[in-house]
Amino acid sequence: MKPVHLLDFEAKEGEERLRGLVEARGEPAYRQEQIREQVFGQRRIDAEKMPNLPHALREQLAATLLGPVLRADGEQTSRDGTRKFRSRLRDGAVIETVWIPAESRGTLCVSSQAGCPAACSFCATGAGGFERNLSPAEIIAQWTGVSDALAADPAQRITQIVFMGMGEPLLNYASLATALRLLTGAGGFRFSPRRITVSTVGIAPNLRRLAADFPQVRIALSLHSAVDATRTAIVPLNRRYPLAGLAEIVREISARGRRVSLEYVVLAGVNDAPEEAAALADFAAQSAGHINLIPFHSYPGTAHRGLEAGAMRRFAERVRSRYDGAVTIRKSRGLDIAGACGQLAGDKLAGVGASGASVGPAR
Ligand code: SAH
Repeated sequence: MKPVHLLDFEAKEGEERLRGLVEARGEPAYRQEQIREQVFGQRRIDAEKMPNLPHALREQLAATLLGPVLRADGEQTSRDGTRKFRSRLRDGAVIETVWIPAESRGTLCVSSQAGCPAACSFCATGAGGFERNLSPAEIIAQWTGVSDALAADPAQRITQIVFMGMGEPLLNYASLATALRLLTGAGGFRFSPRRITVSTVGIAPNLRRLAADFPQVRIALSLHSAVDATRTAIVPLNRRYPLAGLAEIVREISARGRRVSLEYVVLAGVNDAPEEAAALADFAAQSAGHINLIPFHSYPGTAHRGLEAGAMRRFAERVRSRYDGAVTIRKSRGLDIAGACGQLAGDKLAGVGASGASVGPAR
């Protein structure tokens, strides 16, 4: 995407562009600081929502550096409190963002692409195909937008941001990196990088870059099988970036004292055999990271099936018997609104998760 918003630029360049605009209009210099404070202090990234600016300046900003980024396009709330927000981008593409409350935290699951090119066999986003990369502003606007929507209730907060929504973040590295720098940087929003997790299917060169460029951001690898033949069958990108290379990167990262956590969707008859559990445990030993076993979340048209709870626990036990680190079964959140991992389809799969959810209008 062509950069069109202040938040599509690195902090320094954004600052220069803002200064250029303020100076060209003959506005006093303090305006620049005033606007910066609105954006990075108040998290208002849309000039229309900035009070105390002269009308003409506001209009020009709205038409240039601080125009609307996302349009709210519906919201659903799960029985478990999870909220799914649908947004339309300026070109009409649809993305989804999910907020997941837990006792002391609130996790925001953001999308990095509209659709996804990775085409993993078990994921609804992949089944819907790929539309395009999101810009940095489109990534950040999910956070500012949901923050706004939650503002009415002080108990609802965002304490973590996870790149586990639609898309493969490491296939959109430039936008991801700019968004991360703006979110965490001193010249940006100062969100703690330790509270951000990037989840990836393992795009090897960019995984290395991510680890080097963002030493504090947490990394999750969507493994799903530690056996190449199995993994290639369900994660096509494994052909391009096979396990040996990923294992090497995971070892490099853990040698620097960081742990890569592993995600593993357990699919009946695909990756749930005892040999698969053993291979997973051995792979994990190289990173000593947390293993997150994910129950399969179904969606229309999928041929995959998950395990029932007992079989899932037995699989976890098998992994634990060979691995010293943490092995947990991820609690499914937002299933009834198709807001759980792998269910985000935007407007691509009709009728997903309609039951029991309240569908509200855009706010
Ligand atoms: N593309 C990145 C970011 C998406 S994260 C990645 O793959 O890591 C979404 C997580 O949910 C991934 O671990 C993904 O493998 C998992 N997932 C995908 N489809 C799923 C499904 N149907 N049920 C459960 N988890 C799923």
